[in-house]
Amino acid sequence: MKKSNEVFYKICFDSLLEGICIANHEGRIIMNNSAVEEMFGYEKGELVGKEISVLIPEEQRKIHLSYFQNFIDHPRKYKKGKGREFRGLHKSGNILDLEIGLNYFTHEGKFYAKALISEIGIRKRKELRIKEKNKNLEIEVEEQEGQLMDLISELEFSNIKLKEEIKERSFAEHRAKLALEKEKELNIMQTKFISLASHEFKTPLSGILTSASLIQKYNEVQANPRISKHTNTIKSLVGQLNNVLDDFLFLENSERKGYPMNLSRFKLGEIIKMLVEDATAILKEGQRIVISPYDLNTEIRHDRRVIDIIIRNVLFNAIKYSGKNSIVSININTGKDLKIVIEDQGIGIPSEAKEHIFDRFYRAKNALPIQGTGIGLNIVQRHLQQVKGSIYVESEEKEGTKVFINLPLTVKD
Ligand code: ADP
Repeated sequence: MKKSNEVFYKICFDSLLEGICIANHEGRIIMNNSAVEEMFGYEKGELVGKEISVLIPEEQRKIHLSYFQNFIDHPRKYKKGKGREFRGLHKSGNILDLEIGLNYFTHEGKFYAKALISEIGIRKRKELRIKEKNKNLEIEVEEQEGQLMDLISELEFSNIKLKEEIKERSFAEHRAKLALEKEKELNIMQTKFISLASHEFKTPLSGILTSASLIQKYNEVQANPRISKHTNTIKSLVGQLNNVLDDFLFLENSERKGYPMNLSRFKLGEIIKMLVEDATAILKEGQRIVISPYDLNTEIRHDRRVIDIIIRNVLFNAIKYSGKNSIVSININTGKDLKIVIEDQGIGIPSEAKEHIFDRFYRAKNALPIQGTGIGLNIVQRHLQQVKGSIYVESEEKEGTKVFINLPLTVKD
């Protein structure tokens, strides 16, 4: 071989990235390229003449020797690649991960083994890192899967609960609807019955009233004061009963067709006078009605019957719910609105009852021993709502009650 060719081969040999190591049949290195020296940490030419076992970690040398012997006895080619991974020993003592391909050749009758060596430590480390990352990722995914499953089952559970709740609510709603319909039906039946009964009461009552008037008339000659007293009582009680029946009939009528207004001009004083006269019949011993001064001739334009019903109900309540020797005061003010305040010193309204006193048929506990129907204030409120008026009650139990009525006087037909 020419000298220049030899140099060329040497350069090629040395420039290979893979390590090439040639050993003789005794297992001694006779040639290696620079890549092997770099890989194992040796100086140039330092490995030549050394046993290849110097490149093998101590604990594997024995087994390596038997492999080498087997290779000499039964030489074969072993391609480099997966599964052919070895560990090598760096001069510093560090362990190297290697991939080795084995081949052989004979020259001048002598056997030579040729090893093609690559350091796969970096690749392996990378693979390991990737594997580790994958594992971590898998763990993370598993954890997240677990959390997701927990969340899903939580959601499913709350979904079931929600469905149950919705079911329960719709049941309750249904029940409430049925109850409301029943109550409405009952209400209608009740009002119808009351109105029917009131009609039936009215005829005999007017008969009683006529008879009482006739007795009074026949008694004019005899002038028996006892007969007069009793006929007056009969007449007054029949009058009261008539008012109750009128209230019942008004309720049913106004529910069916509303209340048609009947406007006229009249003196407010006339109504007040009449009401006070009627009220005298139910005053208790020593009980007095005090009216603060106002112009008796003041004229207003309104529905006379509505004004009468409103004041009558509130005034009669004030008398009814207060005792002997007490004062019921009436304060009247007319301007754009008619303002009436009626105050008594009676039993008062318990605080829990205040919000219900305008409900139909409602009666507070402390009022139960006193006669009443629980519809007066309901009628008053209905009338006031129709004419855009208002009513407000201030009361303390056992202290008395003050009722404020406000009635706009600019009513239209
Ligand atoms: P009632 O026929 O029972 O008097 P109302 O509708 O006129 O019916 O009044 C409803 C309830 O309001 C009464 O039962 C009573 O409990 C209470 N109430 C009304 N006015 C007075 C008052 N001046 N003093 C005490 N309680 C009153």
